Amino acid sequence: MKVVIAAVVITVAIIIFIYFKEIKSYIKMINLDGRQKDFIKDLQPQAQGIFAAFFSRIEKETNYRFYPTSGYRDYAKQAQLHLENSSNAPAGSSMHNFGLAIDGNGVNKETGVFELKKATDKQLWIDSGIPQIAADLGLTWGGNFSNYYDPIHFGFDGVIPIAELQALAASTYGLDPTKVIGNKLNIVV
Ligand SMILES: [Zn+2]
Repeated sequence: MKVVIAAVVITVAIIIFIYFKEIKSYIKMINLDGRQKDFIKDLQPQAQGIFAAFFSRIEKETNYRFYPTSGYRDYAKQAQLHLENSSNAPAGSSMHNFGLAIDGNGVNKETGVFELKKATDKQLWIDSGIPQIAADLGLTWGGNFSNYYDPIHFGFDGVIPIAELQALAASTYGLDPTKVIGNKLNIVV
């Protein structure tokens, strides 16, 4: 009898533990809007929680809501963007190609005005508090890029060497870029 009770208690404890982990990730997502969730679900699994926390903290701690405009882009899409504007990274050399970056604007929560955009002054971005939240979470801000001012960009640039990602992509999917599924690579963030 005691053995049965012990088994039941252990089983219930395991179930609660599993549910608690799921509930925690659900709570992180609960105050995100549908657009934010759509962009997050295409990211690397390990990056999803970080970006959920990023959007959630912006919502809670600043006057802004983050409005994502670009997230995961496959190699083909990236090649097209590079062709349109050579200042866009070539295929395989952007964190977007691996589901490790999101671009977006800061929308004033009260007025709905898109105040923080690509052309917005660096100081206004800093004053919003958004770059600091990114730094807290270990995300790199494109407003600090030395070669190309890109304040709408937040990602793992410099955190994970791009050469490592490219090598992993090549060893996983081969050398045909159309075969690369960058957001499904087995990356440890
Ligand atoms: Zn970007």
